[in-house]
Amino acid sequence: MSSDSSLMTDYFSPQESHLNHPLFVNALQSIDEAAKLINCDPNILGRLKRPKRGITVSIPVRMDDYSIKVFTGYRVQYNSTLGPYKGGIRYHQDVCFGEVTGLAALMMIKNSVMGLPYGGGKGGITCDPTKLSRTEKQNLTRRYTSELGPFIGPTKDIPAPDVGTDSQTMAWMMDTYSQETGFAQPGVVTGKPVEIGGSLGRAGATGLGVVFVAERAFERVGKSMKGATIAVQGFGNVGSHAALYAHERGAKIVAVSDVSGAIYNGDGFNIPDVIDHIKENKTLINYPRCQHITNEELLCLPVDALFPCALEGQITEKNADKIQAKMIVEGANGPVTNDATKILHAKGVFVVPDIIANGGGVVVSYFEWVQDIMSFFWDEDEINNRLKSIITKAFDKGYTMSKEKNVDMRAAAMAVSIDRLQKAMLLRGLYPR
Ligand code: NAD
Repeated sequence: MSSDSSLMTDYFSPQESHLNHPLFVNALQSIDEAAKLINCDPNILGRLKRPKRGITVSIPVRMDDYSIKVFTGYRVQYNSTLGPYKGGIRYHQDVCFGEVTGLAALMMIKNSVMGLPYGGGKGGITCDPTKLSRTEKQNLTRRYTSELGPFIGPTKDIPAPDVGTDSQTMAWMMDTYSQETGFAQPGVVTGKPVEIGGSLGRAGATGLGVVFVAERAFERVGKSMKGATIAVQGFGNVGSHAALYAHERGAKIVAVSDVSGAIYNGDGFNIPDVIDHIKENKTLINYPRCQHITNEELLCLPVDALFPCALEGQITEKNADKIQAKMIVEGANGPVTNDATKILHAKGVFVVPDIIANGGGVVVSYFEWVQDIMSFFWDEDEINNRLKSIITKAFDKGYTMSKEKNVDMRAAAMAVSIDRLQKAMLLRGLYPR
């Protein structure tokens, strides 16, 4: 991710310093690169580089000691050309307007490349959720939802969980919005508990999507997931599900890791057993019958595929040369930097970018919204089959573009996304003229 200040000045006037965040600069660089590949109309490009609407709200909250603390919250509605705004809500101490804007731009790009009928949005509150009691978190969520009331809704903007928020947060948002509008409106948010209109399959959707994409990528290089060796960095929601579904398909998961370190077994792990160990012990530290290695060593193992499913910025120009995996499927957001992607592409490593590889979560969120609107719920097989069809199609479009333009899959996926947005924006035109 670039934090080059001269680039930032090129992108923003002094009056736009609130937008100046490395995440947004990075998104703008990617949009510019993709625009070149498809000869994007400069008028469209200009519109794609600014959010349509940004909302800042103050959120007074009654704390447990009866004092009132005022928090700041945001919702950035980046683009609605393809449909209602869609994107998560983040509770974290570093949340600021520029970061939320960058994340909203990435949601626009991801929703477009996945072929979903959504624009892009993102929201957040600057707070440390680990320091809030359950009641304080509920009060914060309900007031934030109330302040955003006129701007969100099943046909306007549909939030979802992100860092620091979960299905309970979504249940409070759904209830607040429903109370204020007078009737139950499950379609206002996704990632809800199943009992109030959530979808089956949502919890494992991102990991399953990673595996569907990896299966397709193996097919493209004339290999199979069955018998392939795989290393998985991060064993949380995305990593543990990806490891489990790959294991179920006959892959040999030779290494997994969490924040405490990595474990290696050349014969492949029994993943359900590793999951049970984590449930009991919370960490991989004492897992038996294996070799303990570092996270850096895991990243450099000579495996058929590496799934980085932990954090951003794990593979950079500093360690890209040491990577021996033949393929990388990005379960996390931004684990391989743009510079590292170019190095890896040049040495023949196939990198499947996050905007496709971890799109399973937003695709099943889309299914949740469709089911809520229809008030008709699907079984898990139907959900997983539909997910496979959508995510594989997105992969194929990116793959074809990468061959046509002779670029890496990240640049190609961005180009597919911008191309779809451009076509729709040209058809809709500008209002008023
Ligand atoms: P999580 O908190 O459930 O899991 C994160 C895992 O990474 C944990 O096992 C943690 O121990 C491990 N970890 C943390 N720091 C580490 C380090 N330095 N080295 C190795 N492991 C480390 O989070 P998650 O929901 O699985 O999300 C992981 C990534 O996937 C994030 O980038 C997130 O934005 C992205 N993502 C998640 C979803 C989703 O549906 N959960 C969807 C799209 C993208």
